[in-house]
Amino acid sequence: MSVATKFKCLRCGHEFDGHYDPKAPLVEWTCPLPECKSNSIRPMKEKKRE
Ligand SMILES: [Zn+2]
Repeated sequence: MSVATKFKCLRCGHEFDGHYDPKAPLVEWTCPLPECKSNSIRPMKEKKRE
């Protein structure tokens, strides 16, 4: 089961929606921007903060 999560590219700062599967944490994501394509992607945990 995957969870809808926002991801952020650490290289260009682009944020995009994706799915994070806790059972497959080793999946590597790639920035969707063709001029970037960095694999430095981090899932943004949805914490409720001010
Ligand atoms: Zn990027």
